[in-house]
Amino acid sequence: MLNKKHCNIPIFIPQKACPHQCIYCNQRYISGQQVAPTLNEVKQTIEKYLSTAEKGTELQVAFFGGTFTGLDIEEQKAYLQTVQPYITEEKIQSIRLSTRPDYINNEILDLLKQYNVADIELGAQSLDNEVLQFSERGHSAEDIATASELIKSYGFNLGLQMMIGLPKDTLAKSIATAEKIVSLGAVSTRIYPTLVIDRTPLATLYRQGNYKPLTMNGAVDWTKEVYKIFIHNNVKVLRVGLHPSEDLMNGKGYLDGPFHVSFFEFVLTAIWKERFMNLPLDTKIIKVNPKDINYAIGYRSSNLIFLKSKFRDIKFVQDKTIPQDTFLLY
Ligand code: SF4
Repeated sequence: MLNKKHCNIPIFIPQKACPHQCIYCNQRYISGQQVAPTLNEVKQTIEKYLSTAEKGTELQVAFFGGTFTGLDIEEQKAYLQTVQPYITEEKIQSIRLSTRPDYINNEILDLLKQYNVADIELGAQSLDNEVLQFSERGHSAEDIATASELIKSYGFNLGLQMMIGLPKDTLAKSIATAEKIVSLGAVSTRIYPTLVIDRTPLATLYRQGNYKPLTMNGAVDWTKEVYKIFIHNNVKVLRVGLHPSEDLMNGKGYLDGPFHVSFFEFVLTAIWKERFMNLPLDTKIIKVNPKDINYAIGYRSSNLIFLKSKFRDIKFVQDKTIPQDTFLLY
């Protein structure tokens, strides 16, 4: 579904639905929006996207932010119902939503099936029980596996989101989490480095000197390793790093951690650099797919500069026939 021209119509539902307090989370800052949208606002957002969407684009309404299936059942129905006329008229193809693994059961999935939900993303964050416990997620790795199996048994597309750098996390644990996400049958993922957001328990730990976020280089390196696992196993990486909300951009509520608008580019630059580490000495031309060219050259041309220090006359050539994530040398 996601390899056609695809556009999400994002509807953010901040922490409203969520009775939990994960150690790192203050959805009000992360989404940059403090109140859940009214049904009218949902309609307005959909209409706005419909008026600008290119013809032939596959549109999906995406309820993100909080814990959708933690909403009161009537409220869930009201949001889902608002989208149905657009699906009947084939203006919108389906719905995706994000929720917690412990808010999945048969009753909820029956409802979501009935309302044309196609994709369910679970905030797994980690598949290591120690990390989950210290992050006060309130569910176990086994809960993630059980919910994943149930979601797949209904025929939904399963997404499992992960975080790196939570308390007690290590590179080995993050790699193991990515491998388990693959084995649980996720078709998509999102990778979020942990940030210290103000007015969260993590901010308190940070101020006490009991938590240190990953450095930017550390986060790029960890993300590179998990990203490679996903690409290798055909799990679509839908997002790397948090959306740059206004509050994050102006630093309001954001205390520390590896946040940068170009974080994804940093990661892809590092992946391509690694691919270029042992090129034959007579390399003159590197051919890559046009979609990869910016990442192959690297953030601020850093990979090209690195390559030129070893191969004076080297240059990149774009070639559509080269599969993405591969290259040819001449
Ligand atoms: S479950 Fe999600 S929305 Fe709720 S506190 Fe945790 S991270 Fe935030």
